[in-house]
Amino acid sequence: MFCDQCEQTGKGTGCTVAGVCGKNEDIDSLQKNLIYTLKGISAYVYHAGELGVNDPEIDAFIPEALYSTLTNSNFDLDYFVDINLRAGGMTIKAMRMLKEAHFDNYGVPEPIEVQTGTVAGPGILVTGHSLKGLDELLKQTEGTGVNVYTHSEMLPAHGYPGLKKYKHLVGNLGRAWFDQKKLWSENELVVIAFGNCVLIPKEAYRDRLYCLGVAGVPGAKRIENYDFSEAIEQAKSLPPLPDAPGETTLTTGFSAKVVLSLAGKIKEAVTAGKISHFFLVGGCDAPGKGGDYYREFVKSTPTDTVVMTLACGKYRFNDLDLGDIGGIPRLIDLGQCNDAIEAIDIAVALAGAFGCGVNDLPLTLVLSWMEQKAVAILMSLLHLGIKGIYLGPKPPAWITPNVLKVLQDNFDLRLTGDPKEDMAAMLA
Ligand code: SF4
Repeated sequence: MFCDQCEQTGKGTGCTVAGVCGKNEDIDSLQKNLIYTLKGISAYVYHAGELGVNDPEIDAFIPEALYSTLTNSNFDLDYFVDINLRAGGMTIKAMRMLKEAHFDNYGVPEPIEVQTGTVAGPGILVTGHSLKGLDELLKQTEGTGVNVYTHSEMLPAHGYPGLKKYKHLVGNLGRAWFDQKKLWSENELVVIAFGNCVLIPKEAYRDRLYCLGVAGVPGAKRIENYDFSEAIEQAKSLPPLPDAPGETTLTTGFSAKVVLSLAGKIKEAVTAGKISHFFLVGGCDAPGKGGDYYREFVKSTPTDTVVMTLACGKYRFNDLDLGDIGGIPRLIDLGQCNDAIEAIDIAVALAGAFGCGVNDLPLTLVLSWMEQKAVAILMSLLHLGIKGIYLGPKPPAWITPNVLKVLQDNFDLRLTGDPKEDMAAMLA
């Protein structure tokens, strides 16, 4: 394991052996983790900035943290432990800032059933994360006959009063981000990517793919200044989509406000033994069989438990009908990954209602990570001192055994294993 400097000078001294420059693989691990967290924070800051808000404290933190990762800048292991947790605190601020910007512009989300499949007529599908982008598109498509569909992390947009008021926001197509090559090839509509998690396109749909903001892939057209006119004209020129409703409807749009309006009922149900446990199951989904864990896990939740979820990991199981417990839904979709702040607020409020700490609640967090925002969210939870989180489907590759041990010793961080065995351990 060589630090950047050893690699650059070709000396290959191997700091973990010789300690020549003082950097070791654990510092390298923590620096990587910090950089990934900063990338996640930056995504939230960017989308809040689209809505005209920023936070000077976060703006000052990002360069300080990045500077500390430069070659021969800082060799203090404790510093990097501390700044990673501080980065978790900044993630909380960034998520809250973005949430408030969403609420101020589009209202507080309300639960809604979203139809899957297509409606007869031309269509535009939006993927990514920008509610501002969707709002501008909905304004410009109104009255044109073009229907708008959400994909992946854009699903929660349906719950916002300021967005669902548009009747031509007709539904959701597909599942998590990685079904895009098949989905976009099979459905002849225009696609607009509003952020990350867009893949290099296939020939079949490259000429009907547009990118906004940071999104950019070879062959796709760029949207500048939220001007969607070219995309709308192209959508109108394509053969109309069929009237083909999907077999499932998806429920989204829960907020802390909605869930906490049920706080009295929830407390009663817990006290009466009707609710035994809460789970938060969500995060970034990734292709592969590892994600099956989350479906199996949710399927095996006892009927007296409640599952909150968020981000695109929910597509592993959000087609399941879990029913309700005396009017309290058993599956509660809180929104995009940045809406983890809503889950945090719910957990803190429930702890207040029960007169205990968050770690004393019958609540277990089961997270899936794939990209950098999930790393930032994990740091935010550790910053709050939340213990006993299950993380999967595999351990982050950059975390060294020593760093993992620190996380396990201090935060009781666990790696997912067998869903049924994990469930038994959680309920025990
Ligand atoms: S939750 Fe993560 S993996 Fe999923 S679309 Fe958002 S950023 Fe991408």
